[in-house]
Amino acid sequence: MRNLLLIISGPSGVGKGTIVKELIKSGKYSLSVSCTTRSPRAGEVDGREYFFITREKFMQMIADGGFIEYNNHFGNYYGTPKGFVDEKLKTDDVILEIEVNGALKVKTTHPEAILIMILPPDRDELRARLVGRNSESEENIEERLKRMDYEVSLEDKYDYIVINDDLATAVKNIEEIIEREKEQEI
Ligand code: ADP
Ligand code: 5GP
Repeated sequence: MRNLLLIISGPSGVGKGTIVKELIKSGKYSLSVSCTTRSPRAGEVDGREYFFITREKFMQMIADGGFIEYNNHFGNYYGTPKGFVDEKLKTDDVILEIEVNGALKVKTTHPEAILIMILPPDRDELRARLVGRNSESEENIEERLKRMDYEVSLEDKYDYIVINDDLATAVKNIEEIIEREKEQEI
């Protein structure tokens, strides 16, 4: 049976990180750790949320063909490290938590990847979550809300849409999607 490559996307602040942490807790899936040039937020640990690397190192990795995909998002680079993911896929189902452009790039090189988009119940709730997370300036929040419209415009390209209203329900819905997909692999 082939291990699954699962891609989770959705607007900033919708709860992707929170959902992914819950999925990982079950011990059933492995998480890909991306590289980024952005600075760590309070509580983020190098090698756990991201590999926090310099722009120079990022450019070197691009030149070396070290990414499955990469993108410049909100002024910083983010990329999925190829060796890291290939190694994990040998033993586990792997979750990538990446934005839409990167996700669609992976779908072209890995057509078997399963694309799941997480959406908020509504825009006001998304804003409340971004404000509540206390990690962005007002300007960044506006930029992230604008970006939501673009992401939602691509929802048709995704295999599944999951609304993150109640967290436990959203996590359960995703687990059910993964179980169904695994059954099809047998
Ligand atoms: P993302 O990774 O998509 O940017 P986060 O996981 O950082 O989003 O979540 C943004 C904020 O929303 C966090 O403060 C988180 O605790 C909160 N949050 C996540 N899911 C829910 C939910 N279902 N209901 C209410 N708040 C949530
Ligand atoms: P944040 O700065 O809030 O952690 O992430 C910003 C955005 O970058 C999120 O939408 C997240 O999904 C996306 N992202 C994280 N890692 C990667 C990656 O490796 N590649 C791409 N394309 N996007 C990523």
